[in-house]
Amino acid sequence: MKIKTPQPIRGTQDIFGEDSLRFNHVVNKFDEIRKLYGFKRAEIPVFESTAVFARSLGETTDVVSKEMYSFPDRSGEQLTLRPEFTAGLTRAYLTSGWQQYSPCKIATHGPVFRYERPQKGRYRQFHQIDAEVIGAAEPEADVELLSLADQLLESLGIKQHVTLHLNTLGDSASREAWRAALIEYFQGHFDSLSQESQERLTRNPLRILDSKDPNDKIIAEKAPIIDDYLTEEAASFFKAVTTGLDAAGVAWTRDPRLVRGLDYYRHTAFEFITDQLGAQGTVLAGGRYDGLSEALGGNLTPAIGWAAGIERLAMLIDEPKEDAMNVAVIPLGEEAKNPAISILSKLRHAGISADMSWRGNMKRRMQKANGWGVRYAVILGEEELARNEATVRSMVTGEQQAIALDQIVDRILSELRNK
Ligand code: ATP
Ligand code: MG
Repeated sequence: MKIKTPQPIRGTQDIFGEDSLRFNHVVNKFDEIRKLYGFKRAEIPVFESTAVFARSLGETTDVVSKEMYSFPDRSGEQLTLRPEFTAGLTRAYLTSGWQQYSPCKIATHGPVFRYERPQKGRYRQFHQIDAEVIGAAEPEADVELLSLADQLLESLGIKQHVTLHLNTLGDSASREAWRAALIEYFQGHFDSLSQESQERLTRNPLRILDSKDPNDKIIAEKAPIIDDYLTEEAASFFKAVTTGLDAAGVAWTRDPRLVRGLDYYRHTAFEFITDQLGAQGTVLAGGRYDGLSEALGGNLTPAIGWAAGIERLAMLIDEPKEDAMNVAVIPLGEEAKNPAISILSKLRHAGISADMSWRGNMKRRMQKANGWGVRYAVILGEEELARNEATVRSMVTGEQQAIALDQIVDRILSELRNK
């Protein structure tokens, strides 16, 4: 009986070919730009104690209440696959002694997991790039982090399609006053609110501003804005951020009703939004989360960060070109195989990309070489080998020449340099 192949899990992806080129282009650009800004790479576990996320993201958020992949392990410990990076990085900052590097400028990327309804640009296992500054209360940190995001989007060639929406959620005093005003306002429209928003009203009224329900959106448009509740300190902090952004040449637009889904945000909150991905238009989002460390039992540690969905960025960029192979090595006959392996190895150790097909006649192998887009073919025939030579053919001009085996690498190197 034939065995049935197990199917992939709903909402997961297998990434290869063009999708993979796009994905890696985003990751490589991120790595290039984060170095310009002095952000250090960090790696953290894919799973944590459930408490790491439940405490820091807040029980009332969508992520914690509906989207986490949580399970007991074999010894009964309650674990969760990370739905984002910030909580885990803050846990690591507290438990791995990263305080000594404070302010810590950290960059990472990898898979994250959320139990959502899969659709275009929305998966259950997706991938984020993530940048955080942990241990900095200065508005310069906000400016730094937003500049990094802005330059990344520019280097990906998508800046013209994306707008930075910026808001402040104030300090705790501002936020509490605003929260009370929001509850009062929404209570006046209680019967028209969606059931979900009705439930959020007293627990997390800010989230109603984030509702995707069209009717809620209309009501939210007239809701009180944070500006009337900002303490002087919070207002001057926001001013420092916006003037800093102007100095850095980062364009932004004010969105006084922008909130973030997670509970721990204070002060700066932002989203880079594109009009090209429909309902999945937020490509990069984040903010200041000064309250998080304390929620995890640490000392007060001001911090700010953002995350971007790699798949969403990958959909927006132009198709990247893969670097073409430089050389195809083509052995003719049994005797030529090991000399071919030897040349192949020498080329690669000299930093020249080279490949060899393992089967087929001369014609088939030349077709393969053309498919790889190589500049040179190194053909090892019986007669040349007897003279310790091989034929090097330029695939561009068609010229070919017999060259001593021990000079082939140097010859190709110098020709490639002269290009
Ligand atoms: P959304 O409103 O789209 O659900 P979110 O507020 O849940 O987004 P964040 O928690 O801020 O998103 O995550 C940061 C980024 O990760 C998003 O801006 C988006 O690019 C990406 N992202 C979030 N959820 C998914 C998902 N399920 N699949 C793919 N990318 C996602
Ligand atoms: Mg979401």
